[in-house]
Order: sequence, then structure tokens, then C-alpha cells
Amino acid sequence: MEKTPILPASDAGVTRAAELIRGGQLVAFPTETVYGLGGDATDDLAVARIFEAKGRPRFNPLIVHLPDLAAAERVAVFDDIARNVAQAFWPGPLTLVLPLRAGAGLSPLVTAGLSTVAIRVPAHPLARALLRAVGRPVAAPSANPSGRVSPTRAAHVLDGLSGRIAAVLDGGACAVGVESTILGLAGPPALLRPGGIPAEALEAALGQRLAIGGSAEKPSAPGQLASHYAPGAAVRLGAHAAETGEILVGFGPVKGDLSLSETGDMVEAAASLFHILREADALAGPAGRIAFAPVPDHGLGRAINDRLRRAAAPR
Ligand code: AMP
Ligand code: MG
Repeated sequence: MEKTPILPASDAGVTRAAELIRGGQLVAFPTETVYGLGGDATDDLAVARIFEAKGRPRFNPLIVHLPDLAAAERVAVFDDIARNVAQAFWPGPLTLVLPLRAGAGLSPLVTAGLSTVAIRVPAHPLARALLRAVGRPVAAPSANPSGRVSPTRAAHVLDGLSGRIAAVLDGGACAVGVESTILGLAGPPALLRPGGIPAEALEAALGQRLAIGGSAEKPSAPGQLASHYAPGAAVRLGAHAAETGEILVGFGPVKGDLSLSETGDMVEAAASLFHILREADALAGPAGRIAFAPVPDHGLGRAINDRLRRAAAPR
């Protein structure tokens, strides 16, 4: 890809950025916390490209950005507590983790296959204009290569990602400069990450103390892990052929009952991973066995192999 262009903070800039995102491309955009790397959260390939552009070694779940509470209610299930907190702090630097709404249409890669979803309505006027223009949920982690500090200016985004993303919408410096606070409300209220909104303000609004900790990897509430997070079937990795009774998931030259990507394309493999895990699990049945062809351990392949190793780990 060529050098990444900067789009101005104008109607034309927002329209172009929205067009690119609707076309499955990635655009960095300003929020009041840090610059986000935005992609269409309903598009498996776009979400896979986010992980590729950042060089993330893991498919951790991403925050989904929406223009308002009404749009947020279409992707997550709000109870009275969640609605009150949302009304008190949105738009603003607060992310809520809530049960995923059935039929919300999000790529399972956005939620890492979980049955919960992290959502936020940002306050930055350009972010809101962009989200309205896209008209779809936008997945957006911070717009920096994995392991580097979060960008608070368009120039920081280009330092790390120029040539790897389609555009940056330039909104100047971010006001808050730290990430959003993440409040888990899928179980007992829990502070999952400190950030732009102080925990004390949330406790005051909730009228109760927050549990600290819990994460997507170690959920605070039991039962947060969906059945498709890890298959019920036994999983074997590095397979070149199926053994008796196994469902084989191929990749590239290794043909199977299913394939992560027949052409050996990593973005396609990442985009299809959670769909394939479910499908193979359904084909194999609870007492069945699934074998996966080897996936090269570089680029997106590292995140794919990380997820497959977890699926294969004894439980
Ligand atoms: P970022 O990379 O800044 O977008 O951060 C996303 C954060 O949100 C990570 O710490 C994730 O683990 C957390 N997160 C996203 N979705 C969920 C979820 N469904 N449950 C728990 N934590 C989540
Ligand atoms: Mg980050």
C-alpha cells in the first residue's frame, strides 16, 4: 500500500472516511481518548485486517463504537442499570461490556467469539459524524502497532501505521489522551480497565462498589465464555490428513472437510476462524474430534495459532 493519506476534518473528509470503512478498508479517526483504528464491525475481512495492520499476536476482543444509545441497543442487551450508566456518561470515555444481542450481525472476530460485547459512544464530534455516516458499528482498537503507545495525534498514527491503512481522519490532538474506562456489566459490576472516567464517578452513579479486575481472558462472571469460544470436540493441531473419525480443517495445500483458506490467505483464514470453529464443532459433535492443518506462524498466523492452541488445550 502507498503512503497513507490524511483526510481533513471537514464534511468531505468524513464522507470519504465513511466510504472507505463501508468498503471494508481501515481508517484511523480521532476520539476524545486516543485515535482509533476503525473498521466495519460487521465485516469479517475488515476486522481481520485490523489485527493484521496492528500486528496483534492475539485475537483479543475489540471495542465497538456507535453514534448513540439507540444504535448501541441494537448490538447489546441493556438492563436498567446499563441504560442509566449509559445515559449518565455517554457520549464519553466509558466502555460498557454487555451481553451481545442475538442477531446483532457483528463479526465473531470482534468479540473473540464471546457472548459479550464491549461498546462505546465517543464524544468527539468528528468521531460521531463519522459513525453516523458509516451507519454500521465500527470496531476500533487504538491506532498503533501492537505493543506501542496509543496515538493522540494524526502524525503519531502515521508514524506507526503509514502504508498499512487506507486513511487517517485528522482531528488534531485528543483531549483525554488515555483509553476509555471499561465497566463490565454482563455480571456483577466490575472495573475491567481504568481510564478516562474515574471509578469513583461510576460507583457514585451505580450506588455500589465495583469489583476490580476480570477480563475477556479471565471473565469476572462465570458463564461469560460462549460455547463457541472453545469447541466441545477434542482438537489436534498440525494435521496433514484426517485420522479415522476426525473432521479435518484445511489451510492452503492441505484440503479438508472445511478450510480456513483454500488459497492459504491469512486475512481470509482469520476472518473465517470463529465461523469454522463453530461449524467444525457442530460437524464433529461433542464427543468428536477436529484436526487443523498447520498455519504458518507469522503475521496473522500467530494470532490464529494462539487461538487454535487455546482450543486444543485440555479443559
Ligand atoms: P483496545 O485494544 O484499546 O480496544 O482495548 C479493548 C479492551 O476491551 C481490551 O482490554 C479487551 O480485553 C476489552 N474487551 C473488549 N471486549 C470485551 C469483552 N467482551 N469482555 C471483556 N473485555 C472486553
Ligand atoms: Mg491499545
